[in-house]
Amino acid sequence: MLPRALVEKYQRPGPRYTSYPTALHFTDHVVEDTLIAEAAAETGPRSLYFHLPFCESLCWFCACAKVITQDTTKADRYLDALAREMDAYIAVTGAERPVEQLHLGGGSPSFFTVPQLGRLQRLVEERFQYTPDAELSVELDPRTVDADKIAVLAEAGFRRASFGVQDVEPKVQHAVHRIQPSKMNRQCIEQARGAGFTSINIDLIYGLPEQRPDSWARTLDEVLSYSPDRLAVFAYAHVPWAAPAQRILEKRSPLPDAETRLEMLEMANERLLAAGYHFIGMDHYALPDDELSVAQREGSLHRNFQGYSTRAGREIAGFGMSAISQTHGSFRQNLKDLEAYYAAVEKGEWPLERGYLLTEDDHIRRYAIMEVMCHGQLRWDDLRERFGIEPTAYFQEALPQLSTMEEDGLLTLNAEEGLNVTHIGWRLLRNIAMTFDAYLKPQEQRHARTI
Ligand code: SF4
Repeated sequence: MLPRALVEKYQRPGPRYTSYPTALHFTDHVVEDTLIAEAAAETGPRSLYFHLPFCESLCWFCACAKVITQDTTKADRYLDALAREMDAYIAVTGAERPVEQLHLGGGSPSFFTVPQLGRLQRLVEERFQYTPDAELSVELDPRTVDADKIAVLAEAGFRRASFGVQDVEPKVQHAVHRIQPSKMNRQCIEQARGAGFTSINIDLIYGLPEQRPDSWARTLDEVLSYSPDRLAVFAYAHVPWAAPAQRILEKRSPLPDAETRLEMLEMANERLLAAGYHFIGMDHYALPDDELSVAQREGSLHRNFQGYSTRAGREIAGFGMSAISQTHGSFRQNLKDLEAYYAAVEKGEWPLERGYLLTEDDHIRRYAIMEVMCHGQLRWDDLRERFGIEPTAYFQEALPQLSTMEEDGLLTLNAEEGLNVTHIGWRLLRNIAMTFDAYLKPQEQRHARTI
């Protein structure tokens, strides 16, 4: 249990560090040709991400880039655009490098019909080759997925599915405009397992309106009865300046106070650990024999835009409206407006909105932050070898904060060796990582709270 004094001291807005620098620092000043040249210079296997933005109805808590529609024919034009975007990418980067990871996110990939899902898979297979052990994963909405969609995905080689559940209580579901009976969750998870999916993740959110500790306990009991391999328990990020639909929530029902949020966070942590799950970091839990737990034990965990990952591939090529791509030295993000995205792709252009070129300082700090986030440690010798810096001098400004965190029991600091995160510190990883972030302003308001 996190001591109350630590919660009060360390509760502040902070990034989730799925990238460093975070997407807030991407800019439209980076020349497109430079970003394209960065992609062309990549070597080795690649990961693909497809952003499929359509959803049938709006969940009022949602801050994702999505398009609400009930018209599934809209996905046909989107598939045409994805094909053109892949062609433009391959014309520059070549088709030879294999794909070791593919992820369909959204939005709701399960909005796509069976023929559309089949077509998407063919579009990819006609252009790229998978490695023999490629990992194919998909986000599924229990309200729009069915046995036929699951079967077509399984047939295409998908083995990991992530189901958005959030909360099973009808009162909460009503308050967030997402009605999803538990029977539906159970049925589609059983269908996925029956079709050959070997890894099931469930996403939950705490901090939603109408959530109370007693109802949250029922949600935890219910999702544990599905025996997922992984769970992600996210704190609801109330960022109405970025997701205006969240204002509907504010107006309709009060959000749980900080005390109640903390009680629900602690309850989830205790119940999941008691049920045998390992805490991976941030909001993620996995069964002991799941690849994430194994990677954590073996020190081979990574973090990217999809969260924690077992694959180290340095290039992520993102396709679709708002998709983010990553190379060794850059980030680029596609246009966030669907019509603007179509217009660029249909002209044969890369549909870029903004990007970022990492400086040497970014590389050093990114390494430090990802070591903390993934392995709960930072070795000074590693920094010396990789970057030729003297770490205690380079991070001089971070040392007083790290010493305070040591006094608070979050980490141990050794002037000769580096830092190690303690058991309590694993719960406050973001705060520790934030000490290495050169861009963070005191009390930065553009991020959600760390606890
Ligand atoms: S939470 Fe998922 S299903 Fe709901 S609006 Fe957002 S992307 Fe769509």
